[in-house]
Amino acid sequence: MTDFKELTILEALKLLEKGKISSKELVEETLKQIKKVDPQIKAYIYVDEEGAIKSAEEADRLIQKGEKKKLLGIPISIKDNICIKGLPTTCASKILQNFVAPYNATVIERLKAEGAIFIGKTNLDEFAMGSSTENSAFFPTRNPWDLERVPGGSSGGSAAAVASRMGLGSLGSDTGGSIRQPAAFCGVVGMKPTYGLVSRFGLVAFASSLDQIGPFATTVEDTALLLQVIAGHDPKDSTSASVEVPDFLKSIKEHEKTSFKIGLPKEYFESEIDSEMAKIILEIIEKLKKRHKIKEISLPHTEYAVATYYIIAPAEAFSNLARYDGVKYGFRAESKNLIEMYKKSRALGFGKEVKRRIMLGAYALSAGYYDAFYLKASKVRTLILHDFLEAFKEVDLILTPVTPTPPFKIGEKISDPLQMYLSDIFTIPVNLAGLPGISVPVGLTSDNLPVAVQAIGPHFRDELVLSLAYQIEKEVNKKFVPSILSE
Ligand code: GLN
Repeated sequence: MTDFKELTILEALKLLEKGKISSKELVEETLKQIKKVDPQIKAYIYVDEEGAIKSAEEADRLIQKGEKKKLLGIPISIKDNICIKGLPTTCASKILQNFVAPYNATVIERLKAEGAIFIGKTNLDEFAMGSSTENSAFFPTRNPWDLERVPGGSSGGSAAAVASRMGLGSLGSDTGGSIRQPAAFCGVVGMKPTYGLVSRFGLVAFASSLDQIGPFATTVEDTALLLQVIAGHDPKDSTSASVEVPDFLKSIKEHEKTSFKIGLPKEYFESEIDSEMAKIILEIIEKLKKRHKIKEISLPHTEYAVATYYIIAPAEAFSNLARYDGVKYGFRAESKNLIEMYKKSRALGFGKEVKRRIMLGAYALSAGYYDAFYLKASKVRTLILHDFLEAFKEVDLILTPVTPTPPFKIGEKISDPLQMYLSDIFTIPVNLAGLPGISVPVGLTSDNLPVAVQAIGPHFRDELVLSLAYQIEKEVNKKFVPSILSE
């Protein structure tokens, strides 16, 4: 008997190929799991039961014909800010509540071409603005490790879905930490690729110079495989890079025993981190010393990263969200004239945090303030990038915590935006610099909450980031399975 709850994508592919299981069975097991645990966790906004079963039947036909594809018959979920043709794409916002995507994102086209099956769309903070999934206009998602706690955000639905095995993998988006932070909170692997490695075509834009799509999975190998399928140049996204995509699975095997020079930025380790978490992370670092050269480094402009981000991201969001005017997309408020219609549609359609960001952005870009805020922030962003470029002259990779604390309680930070913003201090600099970063689980606190580390690499060295993560995963040698799975 196959234990579906322990299955990885690579294992499932083998079983499918040998005919030990069918894709239909896999999809039905996934749907069963959703019926069982999602009423509590609430990871999904939309489940496409019928579509998933149909695609699974098609996958089974292809498998029987001996067809080989990288993800043939594998059920995964997709964050609800990535367009799948014919399915709702709500961004967890009232303003897009009734919006049905008329086309596929490039990542969806690529996953489809390799035979992946889309189970449904996962919950997020509205327009990916948040760190807890509490900003969803529909409902908060809960952490599978402790239902009283947040799963992180903004891709909290994707992380929680993978952690509770409602799909074997997922795609999220990461603008300031939205893949890595929820991955850390839910005890799964999550990666933000180098800016430009994955096409953003069909991802609803939040802050276009920072947004990047990336994978979630339960293992580093599965993460590498998902990234393989979605990475590569796309003429439909002018910021997607024309670079050769390495064979990630091959790379991580080749680097299985490579000794790296790893930098620990003192600014990250000197800042306030939960002491139990710090202990677990230091233990891992001790173990890594057996093979790797570990060195303290400095990223001196780290302290300005959150402030810089909260000028640049809202400024870009202000501009990107101007298109939601009640005319072109989704929600339209009843009103007497056009101007009132714009105003009312936006006032009723957007939630509190989104409005806060729009106002911050409008302010930062206003005449007379542009130089003081946006231009200044852009300059500091360059300094932050240079910190990393200097560091990578001395080290191959950088290792840091992902978050300052383990997952916090639902409601704990929602009324204090600054506290919420600070939960991303270790992930935001990576987006500002456009670097690849991954979150890998390394342990559990005494409260049974996941702890993770972040590996950061130079631009377009995503294979190195995955390789270090793979070594860490081997060193930790533990499966992170929340108890909700055995209930
Ligand atoms: N938490 C950060 C924010 O609210 C990052 C979100 C993200 O990466 N999408 O902006």
